[in-house]
Amino acid sequence: MFFTHDTEMALGFVAALADTSPEASDSRTEELSTQEQLTVLLDEWKYSGRRDGDERELREVRDARGRLRGLWLLDRDAAAEAVNGLLAEARALPQLVRHDGLDWHIHATEPDAPLARRILVEAAMALIDVIRADEMHRLRICDADDCESLYVDLSKNTSRRFCSTRCGNRMAVRAYRARAAT
Ligand SMILES: [Zn+2]
Ligand SMILES: [Zn+2]
Repeated sequence: MFFTHDTEMALGFVAALADTSPEASDSRTEELSTQEQLTVLLDEWKYSGRRDGDERELREVRDARGRLRGLWLLDRDAAAEAVNGLLAEARALPQLVRHDGLDWHIHATEPDAPLARRILVEAAMALIDVIRADEMHRLRICDADDCESLYVDLSKNTSRRFCSTRCGNRMAVRAYRARAAT
């Protein structure tokens, strides 16, 4: 394990959230266009705290998604600056909490803060760990030429190239065919 459990969960959530956008989703369509889709995602990741379930929240979460996608591939110095900006903007206040059977972990917003703000701050807090450990290179985008899915490479030697075995297999077949054709 490179990061603490809550950091790995937060990074996993960011990748899953980012992958609801049309350029990255399995269906290649917007997968965050309804409140139901947001609810499924939040439940899947056991996201706690306030949920309004309205259009405004949905729009704000999609905006947050865009910002986080942008952050993912920044170099370390730019990421540090962006994280500081996010935390200042949200007036984040780190505190240790224990809830829903989860052991002590960090929240930096109140549970009743708007969902999009909590998503941004939680991601920023996770990125603090990544930046401090100098592991930004583990935040990756799929190498497949037709896939922009984000993932966290937790392999020992950061050798992972694709978001999924599906993309890996697809690209292997393509490379094989290209070789066979020459
Ligand atoms: Zn929590
Ligand atoms: Zn992929």
